[in-house]
Amino acid sequence: MTNATRILAIDQGTTSTRALMFDENMQVLAAEQLPLRQIYPRDGWVEHDAEEIWQAALKVCRGVIERTGGIKGVAAIGITNQRETTVVWDRGTGKPIHNAIVWQDRRGAAMCADLRAAGHEPGIQSKTGLIPDSYFSATKVTWLLDNVPGAREAAETGKLAFGTIDSWLLWKLTGGKVHATDATNASRTMLLDIGRGAWDADLLDLFRVPKTMAPQVRDTSGPFGKTDAALFGGEILVTAMVGDQQSALVGQGGVREGVIKSTYGTGCFVLINTGANQFPSRHKLLTTVAYQLNGARTYALEGSIFNAGTAIQFLRDNLRLIANASESEAMARATDGTKSRVRFVPAFTGLGAPYWDADARGAILGLTRDTSPADIVRAALEAVCFQTNDLLETFTRDGVAPPEVLRIDGGMAANDWLVQELADVTGIPVERPVMTETTVLGAALLAALGMGLLPSIEAVESAWRRDLRTEPQLGPAERASRLASWCDAVGRVRSHRPE
Ligand code: ADP
Repeated sequence: MTNATRILAIDQGTTSTRALMFDENMQVLAAEQLPLRQIYPRDGWVEHDAEEIWQAALKVCRGVIERTGGIKGVAAIGITNQRETTVVWDRGTGKPIHNAIVWQDRRGAAMCADLRAAGHEPGIQSKTGLIPDSYFSATKVTWLLDNVPGAREAAETGKLAFGTIDSWLLWKLTGGKVHATDATNASRTMLLDIGRGAWDADLLDLFRVPKTMAPQVRDTSGPFGKTDAALFGGEILVTAMVGDQQSALVGQGGVREGVIKSTYGTGCFVLINTGANQFPSRHKLLTTVAYQLNGARTYALEGSIFNAGTAIQFLRDNLRLIANASESEAMARATDGTKSRVRFVPAFTGLGAPYWDADARGAILGLTRDTSPADIVRAALEAVCFQTNDLLETFTRDGVAPPEVLRIDGGMAANDWLVQELADVTGIPVERPVMTETTVLGAALLAALGMGLLPSIEAVESAWRRDLRTEPQLGPAERASRLASWCDAVGRVRSHRPE
C-alpha cells in the first residue's frame, strides 16, 4: 500500500470534459476543462466525436497531474459522465466505427413508437425502469449496427464493442484491456434488467444487439483496471465509474433512503434514494440504479424538468429583461409577492413529468398594465419551483415517503431568492452545500471508497458541508393558493394549441 491519497476525477459532460484533482479532504487542488464540439448532422440528431472525447480526457488528466506534482500522490481515478451517449468501436483497432450518438439524439424515436405500438412498453418498464425512448442507449446501438456498412456482420463475429462514455474512457485508459461499465450507467441503456443487474437476453434480442458487444457490468465502486503505464508515466487504478446524476446524489451525501437532490442547470434533474426498493413508477418517472456496491443495488426514482435555466436564458437572450442570469435575484427580490401574480409556464419544448405533453408550448399569464419586467423575472424563477413541487408530488403519488429536506446544486442554486422560494413552494426546508460541484465530488468520493480510503459509503455523509438552509415561511393558505394558480396556468397552456 502506498501513501498516495489524491483522487483524480474525470467529469465527461455533454458540453465539456473536465479533470479535477482532489486531496484526501476532498478539497480541489487543480482543475482543467476543454469544451466539446457538438455535431448536428440533421434536425434532431446530435453526435460527439468519441476520439475527441478521449483526447480531451487524456489532456485534462495530464494537465492536473502535472500541476499537482506528478502521479506519485495519485491513489485512484473516478469517472463520471453524460449518461446514455453511446459509442461502438472496433476491438482490434480501438477506433470508433462512427461518431458517438448523444443522449439528446432523437433518431431512435420511430423505433420506440413502434415498440410502444407493439405493446412492449410494460415489459421494458418493468425490467429496465425506463419508458421506451430514444434518449436511452438501446436504439442508438441498433441504429449504428443497421446503418454503418459492415457493422452488423462485424458485431455478430465479436469484432465490435459498445459502451456508454464511461466504458469508452475505461477501455482507452486501460490500453484496450478492460471492457466494463458500472450498474448506474448500464441502467440507462434500456438493455439492463435492473432487478438482477445483468443484461437481459430478451431485450438484447428485441434491439438486435449481440451479447458479445456488451461491457461487463460491475459495482459502481471497486477495481475497474489500471491505466496503461505509457499514458501518465505509471499506472493508476480506476476505482469508480458513475453516471452524472447518480454521482451528484452521492456528492450530496444521498446514501440513505429518502434523501433527495435536485440539480438546477439548463434543465433540472431530481433523484430520490429509494434504498433497496425498486419503485415502479405509475406516473412515468424513471426507476434507476443509484449505485451498486458489493453486488447489491441501491435504487433511485428520477424525474426531470426540461426547462429550468433555459427560462432565465430566455429572459436574457430573447426578452432582454436581464443582462446576466445573476441579475434575476435582485429583480425578483424587489417585487412584491402579495401583488405579483404573473405566471410563466416555460414549456418551450413541451411539458415533462407529470404532464408529459410534448405539444404544449409556453405562456406568460396574468399580465396587467402595471406588470413590470421584474414581475416576469420573478414568475420565471417561481416556475422552476412549481415544477419542482410537481415532481415531488409525483414521487409521493408513486409511493415514496415525502422527503424531509431538499438538497440542491447546479448553476441556479447560487440564487438565494430562488432557494427561499423553493422552500416556500415545496413546503420543505431546502439545503445548499458548500461544494456545489456535486457531480465530480461524487465520483471522487466513490473512487476513494473503491480504493479503501473511505471506510464505507455512509462516510460520504460526513463529507457533506452545509452552506445555506432555508425554512418554508409561507402560510398553508397562501401556498395552496399559489399552487392552485400554477395548476390553472398549466391547464390553460395545455388547452391552447398553437396553429
Ligand atoms: P449546465 O451544467 O446545464 O450547463 P449550470 O449548472 O452551469 O448548467 O447552470 C447554468 C444555468 O443556470 C444557466 O441556464 C443560467 O441561466 C442559470 N443560472 C446561473 N446563475 C443563475 C442565477 N444566479 N440565478 C438564476 N439562474 C442562474
